[in-house]
Amino acid sequence: MPLRLIPTGECWRGCGGETERGSFFLPGHDKVAEAVILLIEYGEVLEFLVRRGYAPGGKNPRKDLEAWRNRVKARRSEVKLKPNTVDR
Ligand SMILES: [Zn+2]
Repeated sequence: MPLRLIPTGECWRGCGGETERGSFFLPGHDKVAEAVILLIEYGEVLEFLVRRGYAPGGKNPRKDLEAWRNRVKARRSEVKLKPNTVDR
């Protein structure tokens, strides 16, 4: 189950900036945070992939993306089929 996160009003990149209501980051700061964590934790994309099991012979990013898209599509279909769930 995904985490339920609540914006705090402060940019989660750690720059100390004040965010818009409902936002976790100042514009573009989510990508900066992503790149910084990737660099600090893994050094480079290649090591990130390997350490997450995506080396040749392991998990396949393209196939996993397709499976993820199918799961999301199936979940959306389930929501539409439930009674008393009307889009307004
Ligand atoms: Zn920021």
